[in-house]
Amino acid sequence: MFKVGFIGLGIMGKPMARNVRKAGYGLIVYDRNASTLETFRKEGTEIAANGREVAEKSDVVITMLPNSPHVASALFDKDGIAEELRAGQAVIDMSSINPVASKEFYSRLKERKVDFLDAPVSGGEPGAIEGTIAVMVGGDKPVFDKYYDLLMTMASSVTYIGPAGCGNITKLANQMIVAVNISVLSEAYVFAKKAGADPKLVFEAIRKGLAGSKVMEQKSPKIFSGDYDPGFRIELHIKDLQNVLDTAHTDNISVPFSAAAMEILQSLKADGLEKKDHSAIVKYFEKINNAKVIG
Ligand code: NAD
Repeated sequence: MFKVGFIGLGIMGKPMARNVRKAGYGLIVYDRNASTLETFRKEGTEIAANGREVAEKSDVVITMLPNSPHVASALFDKDGIAEELRAGQAVIDMSSINPVASKEFYSRLKERKVDFLDAPVSGGEPGAIEGTIAVMVGGDKPVFDKYYDLLMTMASSVTYIGPAGCGNITKLANQMIVAVNISVLSEAYVFAKKAGADPKLVFEAIRKGLAGSKVMEQKSPKIFSGDYDPGFRIELHIKDLQNVLDTAHTDNISVPFSAAAMEILQSLKADGLEKKDHSAIVKYFEKINNAKVIG
């Protein structure tokens, strides 16, 4: 069994690392937040002083960090992972980042004979706790095969997509669909309310039909209750859509719906709502229509 290093113990990384440990793998962890590290130390997990020590004492290093610059910093800064990586070791980056950055990390590590997979996830904090996240993977297929069992300790599905960057291309496609889906769901509920129908009854009437979706099932109760605690923060969805726009424009792709969803999220950020769940997108449609879905 591999000894696993885990860097980034936030909302997602903490339960994911615990699931790796529960499956019987040796584990050493690092996060720049000292109190999180202390929690793991109290649970009996080996903790490291920095990324370099994680790389030194493990066979494979998993990273679960906010965005591309954080992964670049964890890999290549002084005392970072790359200072200790040996030929034959691997880095599995499970953060949602720009696929162009994933390809660059793959190439830079390949020069040192170190393997790299981009393996972002969907399923949110509940999926991370239950070990039922979906993992989408880019990189070399033999490397994917080697670490499949390790990834499955955290997941209900682990899918190989293609070469480096393909995991994050898949994740960005997922984030485009979710952002536009919540936006039009919100638009439809405000439309129904203002035109004279009860949005809760609209939901009951249409949820089993063609318009029904996981987004409708999970986000409608939040919209109706006005509970916008995250969940998935608006600021993280802005990060993902920025990566969508950067990737799209680099490759000469036009993404008008994602661009519109990005502007809606930016407007909510301007209203100070960036720490709220992305179901708060409904507040944008309530504001421009001077209407409330409930009440
Ligand atoms: P988070 O902000 O809760 O956690 C990030 C952790 O990384 C923090 O503990 C922080 O201290 C640590 N960190 C940052 N830079 C570091 C560095 N250089 N070295 C060591 N530690 C560092 O974020 P999260 O919600 O766990 O999300 C992580 C990734 O997973 C993001 O890319 C996010 O988009 C993605 N994601 C999140 C969700 C969700 O529902 N929260 C769902 C799917 C995917």
